[in-house]
Amino acid sequence: MLKKIIIARHHGFCMGVKRAIKIAEETAREEIGNVTILNEIVHNEAVVEMFNRQGVNQAFSVDDVEKGTVIISAHGIAPAVIKDARAKGLKVVDATCPLVSRIYSIINKIVTNGYDVIHYGDPGHDETHGIVGQAPEHITVVSSRDELLALPQWKDRKLGFTVQTTAHLEEFAEIEKLAREKWPHIEIFNTICNATGERQNAIMDLAPRVDLVLVVGSQSSANSRRLARISAAICGRGTLIGSAQDIDEGWFTGDDGVKAVGISAGASTPDFLVEEVIDRLVQISGDAAEVILPEEATSGDQEQGAK
Ligand code: SF4
Repeated sequence: MLKKIIIARHHGFCMGVKRAIKIAEETAREEIGNVTILNEIVHNEAVVEMFNRQGVNQAFSVDDVEKGTVIISAHGIAPAVIKDARAKGLKVVDATCPLVSRIYSIINKIVTNGYDVIHYGDPGHDETHGIVGQAPEHITVVSSRDELLALPQWKDRKLGFTVQTTAHLEEFAEIEKLAREKWPHIEIFNTICNATGERQNAIMDLAPRVDLVLVVGSQSSANSRRLARISAAICGRGTLIGSAQDIDEGWFTGDDGVKAVGISAGASTPDFLVEEVIDRLVQISGDAAEVILPEEATSGDQEQGAK
């Protein structure tokens, strides 16, 4: 029988996601019918559907937008895409998270000073596309320690190193160490954002106290997938669920059933999805489970600024 539902201290919408949604909502209100979001505004189906219902268009290429306004998502975009959009006469509204833009600034500054950049991130992620687009001839993307070790020695090059905002803190610490060993002269910029660090640390506090962690988020959300992976490594069971509908009542029945469940959510997951999950769990427990909110529990965050 489920007895405890413990909520992660930090979970859900981050500053960059809240900001992007606000910008998109304001733009949709002002420019009715002519607004297109390039890529997913944030990686969450419920949020994407909300904008679809408001009549906001969705496209994955400027080639597919004929007129009106395009909104750049929180993950950012390559400058060449913005240039193409403006060349077509489209108005561009930029909702790129300032902490992604900060990586652009770092890269542009050091490339101007003669550096090449190694970027640690998922090569298929929108954020990586935008980052590589800042200086395509000067950036090499690696997504694993093996790829890093396979790179040339580049003794004659000035090297900088940046990292995806949502990377795994501990994995990056190992990558950073390897990079410093391989290139003692490399300049490393830890560009993992505060929201990512807070959510990963909160999961590490939560997971040892429960039998199962449910992370609410979309499969397309890299930071949600990572939270599920971290919790699975700690408590043995960490599952990514899109919504309350994905909860299997069987997890909580029988002698081996889950007694204490932890709840977290990715940075792109709206509060209502988390609330529905909590309500469903309380219902499964027959209204018997205690819902424990840590003293400093926050959905979203007030933080920001430095990474
Ligand atoms: S996860 Fe970090 S970088 Fe990404 S939108 Fe949120 S605050 Fe910005």
